[in-house]
This record gives sequence, structure tokens and C-alpha cells, in this order.
Amino acid sequence: MVELHFSRALLSDGWRRDILITLNGRKISAIAVGAPPSANAERISGIAVPGLTNVHSHAFQRAMAGLAETRGPAEDSFWTWREVMYRFLAEMTPDDIEAVAALAYAEMLEAGFTTVGEFHYLHNAPDGRRYADPAETGARIVAAAKTSGIGLTLLPSFYAHGGCGGRPAKPGQIRFLSDLDGFADLLASSGRHVASLDGAKLGIAPHSLRAVDAPELRTLLQAYPDGPVHIHAAEQVAEVEECFKWSGARPVEWLLDNAGLDSRWCLIHCTHMTEDETARLARSGATVGLCPITESSLGDGIFAGVGYQNAGGHFAVGTDSNIRIAANEELRTLEYGQRLRDQRRNCLTGVSRTSTGRTIFDAALAGGTRALASEAGAIEVGKSADIVVLDDTNPSLVARDGDALLDAWIFASGPAVREVYAGGRLVVRDGRHIKGEAIRARYAVTMRRLLSGG
Ligand SMILES: [Zn+2]
Repeated sequence: MVELHFSRALLSDGWRRDILITLNGRKISAIAVGAPPSANAERISGIAVPGLTNVHSHAFQRAMAGLAETRGPAEDSFWTWREVMYRFLAEMTPDDIEAVAALAYAEMLEAGFTTVGEFHYLHNAPDGRRYADPAETGARIVAAAKTSGIGLTLLPSFYAHGGCGGRPAKPGQIRFLSDLDGFADLLASSGRHVASLDGAKLGIAPHSLRAVDAPELRTLLQAYPDGPVHIHAAEQVAEVEECFKWSGARPVEWLLDNAGLDSRWCLIHCTHMTEDETARLARSGATVGLCPITESSLGDGIFAGVGYQNAGGHFAVGTDSNIRIAANEELRTLEYGQRLRDQRRNCLTGVSRTSTGRTIFDAALAGGTRALASEAGAIEVGKSADIVVLDDTNPSLVARDGDALLDAWIFASGPAVREVYAGGRLVVRDGRHIKGEAIRARYAVTMRRLLSGG
């Protein structure tokens, strides 16, 4: 049993002072409010809030952050960025993937994310062949999660085609591909690796309607009737046009009409929807995984956040390309996109009409928890002990109280995370991951080799 005493905390029933939390293994077993610290309790000043969920990550892309910021000879777009990504990942070994993922996950913890949904599609060897263990690279993701201590929902991706309606894959996609039988083997092995990590979950990720045809999607949903289902949808205009040409429907419309969307589903991006799609998606019970920093980086577009929220839609946030890992900045960018488009302030306060920071924090936490089937999501008895402590001496946070603390963290502050507990263990102290030095050293060795091309 471990006891932690916090001076201030955001519990599921609101802000409280003098909170004594008892941990039993990974979980919170008791909470006493207005309690003095017990003799054995560790006293933690600062502000305790629930760890956020990062609903969408491709960890390996952390290695190419900042490498695609020079304009090419032709018009630059998502699709030219994707070519850079394909060239880069052609070199990565399973060891490299583990080293890069461990860094990304340590940085996520330092930034206030305590659970990650890894949408994992880099399965095969560089020549396209399977590794002896089809889930070799998934095992490296699990190992990186273990090293870092972050909560994991592994979402092995099914990827079979290079365009809507079953068009053939491109050479740059050979590391992603499998057929349905191959995916069954991959998922069975992934499940064994996930079972070795306390509290980790397994879902499936049909990559997109470009990579999965309609009969395959039906088969996957029948074969795997439980657990999270994540899919990329409507990130780019060209993708919407391609889907329409193939099916006569836009991607989100097609999924609404054909895939039986419900609370298992998490649609990533959805930056291009009609008003009708927005309202129908909100009613479906699915969650939208928004990645505002990556969507800004790639020039994807701006999500119809206000309309979706007014229609009662669920959303979560993710770091996707990992070009920048910061929970508060992800939420800030989400709100700022709405402001820039609508030329208004405080857009995503919803019906609460109160703190924007608190509203989007609560929404992203609830949406992410459900989309990842996570056992965390609140500082509450029975939940996984995933607690982020904000530094109340940070100039942006000092002398603030209640929801104003979240507004200050999200809109005004740089890094302000001081301690992080994930799955009941202290993983970040004084703003740095406790294994950060070794993780960063291994990452540096990997990067020097990858970028020297040898
Ligand atoms: Zn993605």
C-alpha cells in the first residue's frame, strides 16, 4: 500500500483540498477528502489532475519530427509528407522502433498523457516479409510501454490496399500489408504480448477506407466483435474525393451507412464533414480522435468542433505524427482552430458556458478513456492510479485556483507537469522521466545511425 497526500486535486466530483489517496498496486483503493497526511504518506504539493489519454499515436514518426519542413520542388501537401515518411521508415529495425517509441512515450508522460492508443501499422520487415513473430514490432511497442510505464491500448492496423475499392498497394507500403489470415496471426500474437503488460488493452485498426475494402471490413468486424475499433477518416480533401468516386459517398457518410458505428468506434481526424455527417456522427455514439497539432502540421483542415459538440458528439485528442508532444498544447490548438475559423473566442465551452479549459479537458479525458477502453480516466476509487501533478509555482499557474488552473495550463503555460504517476508508479519526477537519461541516450544512438544512412 502506498499513500499519497495532495494539497489540491481534481476528483470526479470536482476540485478538493487535502486529499489522501491510497494505492493498492495499480489501482486507487481509497480516497479521503479533507484529511491530514498520514505518517507514511508522501506529501505532494502542486495540483493533481487525472492523466490525459493520447488516443492516436504512430510512435515511430517521432523520429522524423521536423524533417519534412523544407518545401519540395512541387506543391507541398500531406501526400508529399507521406513520401518522406515512407522513405524514412524503410530503414527502421525493430530495435529502432523500440528506441523511438520509448522516447515518445517518456515524452508523453512528461507532457501529461498517461495512456496511449498506438495505431500500429509498421508490421513487416523492410523487404515486406513477415518477421518470424508476425507481431515482432508490436512486441517492441509493448516493450517501450513497459520501459516508460505508460498505459497502452495497442491497435494493430489492418492494411491491404493502396486506394479505395481495393486498389493495389504502392511500393512504400510493403511494411504495412497483410491479408485477413495474416492479420488473424498478427492479432493473436499481439494479444499475447499485450497480456504481458498489466492493464494493457488490445483493439483493431482497419487503417482507412483506402487500405481496407468493404468485404474485408465486414469480416474484421464479425471476427472481432469486442474492443476498440479505430480508423482514419476524412483527413484530406483528396481522400474524400477518392472515396466519393469509388462509392458515391464521403468517408464518414460511408462508415455511417455501412459500418454500424457505435461506442466501440473511434474515427481519427474527420476534418472534412458536411453538416449532416457531423450531426449523424455525433448521434452514432462513436468518438472522434482529433490530432490538432498534426492536423495543423499537415495542413489537413479544421474539425467542425462547435457543431459536433452542440450535437452531443464525443471527442478525444491524440498526438498522431508526434511532431510535438504536449497535452496542453493539443487542447489549446483544438480550441484555437475553432477561434481562427469563426473569429470568436471561447468556442468549445459547449452548454456549460464556463471554463473552456475545464470543458475540453473533461471531454477529451472522457472520450479518450472510452475510445481506448482504459481503466483510468478519473481520480476515483477502483480506477488505475494515473495522476498528473501540475507545478503550482509555475508563473502561469501561481495564485490560480479551480478551473482557472486548467485554463492557465492549457492556454498560457509551457511545460508545467512536475510529477506523474502511471498505473500506480511514479514515472516522472521534477518534470523528467525517471529513466529519461537512458531512454534519450538510446534514442540518440538510433537517430545518428538512421540519419547518417548507415
Ligand atoms: Zn494517424
